[in-house]
Amino acid sequence: MDMLQEFHMNKGQGEDSYAKNCNVQNNILSVTKSFVEEAIQGYFDNDFPETMAIADLGCSSGPTALAAVSEIMDMVNARCLRMDRNSASPKFMVFLNDLPGNDFNGVFASLSSFQKKLKEEKGNDFGPCFIAGLPGTFYGRLLPTNTLHFVHSSCSLHWLSQVPPGLDGKDNPMMQNKGKMYASVTSPSEVVDAYKLQFRKDFLLFLKSRAEEMISGGRMVLTLMGRRLNDPISYYPWEFLSQCLMNLVSEGIIEEEKVNSFNVPFYAPYVEELKQLVEEESSFFGYRFGSFEVEWDGHEHVKHNNNELFHSCEVLTQGERIAKMHRAVIGSMLEHFFGGEIMDELFHRYSRVWDDHLTHKPDSKCLSLVVSLIRN
Ligand code: SAH
Repeated sequence: MDMLQEFHMNKGQGEDSYAKNCNVQNNILSVTKSFVEEAIQGYFDNDFPETMAIADLGCSSGPTALAAVSEIMDMVNARCLRMDRNSASPKFMVFLNDLPGNDFNGVFASLSSFQKKLKEEKGNDFGPCFIAGLPGTFYGRLLPTNTLHFVHSSCSLHWLSQVPPGLDGKDNPMMQNKGKMYASVTSPSEVVDAYKLQFRKDFLLFLKSRAEEMISGGRMVLTLMGRRLNDPISYYPWEFLSQCLMNLVSEGIIEEEKVNSFNVPFYAPYVEELKQLVEEESSFFGYRFGSFEVEWDGHEHVKHNNNELFHSCEVLTQGERIAKMHRAVIGSMLEHFFGGEIMDELFHRYSRVWDDHLTHKPDSKCLSLVVSLIRN
């Protein structure tokens, strides 16, 4: 799959859309709010730009697309009020970035109500806020040198620029990742190394590209999926999906070859790996690194924020909620590779595996890493 052209979250506003199935991501945004706030405070301690340029990288579509930007502006506004500089609140230039296949039209359609709300809540002296879509990969340059004051990216950097090369086993049969779609405890060490190497290359390129685009003293807060030091390389969701795909193989519904050659362009690093890469690239000061756990289905977000949605979600099992969410994220990729016909069955089985897992391990949680950096 050509990530650049074809990868996208499920579009639109329907039941299966990303917009309706992003509770985990929403939850992660709430938890990392304190990191963003700290970074904004820190920035305004040293500088007060006339126009503040902000980029949200991997913004997707739906309620989370503008959530971070909106929070950032709230924080700047609060900070200005405290400094008694409300009338001189900075103007904002916001860049919403994602891959070209993203539902940018959905995002653009929500902009006028977003602007209207800003005016109502903050008055005419606030901003103004100019918003632009920025299609393209964040693994490379997106903007001119010295443009950005603040960069934010949530739940996006665990996506690699490509599946690590060689995993189809065509050149080296040792590299074939049999029956798995991501590095797993049973994968050959070559496969694990290939994933690590791809992440390393991608993350270094990401840092280098942002270093060029950001002004000195600029801040960046990044959140991504990760693993704990004693966790195995494997990642529950992709392990369980592989298991379900292999079930379909054993029933003759899909070919084993097909599963063997399917791998996801994803990597969940340790926080230590991030620290080391930030140091190695050397353009940023690692201000704060952290990790936290959220429920796999993001249910705590719904519970706290939306009563109506909470009750409609209660009808589903936890496994079903997780399956819906992962289908909204990775469904397009699986469909592209295996065809649409097996999707309902695949995700039905997937939901059952999760229900079973959570019955045995009710404490199982999803780990997220957060990194706050300052451009040197
Ligand atoms: N930040 C949003 C979206 C997370 S989903 C939220 O918190 O809800 C991850 C998003 O990253 C997807 O929309 C995906 O298309 C995007 N993405 C993945 N790789 C990317 C890349 N190389 N460049 C830009 N966006 C990318």
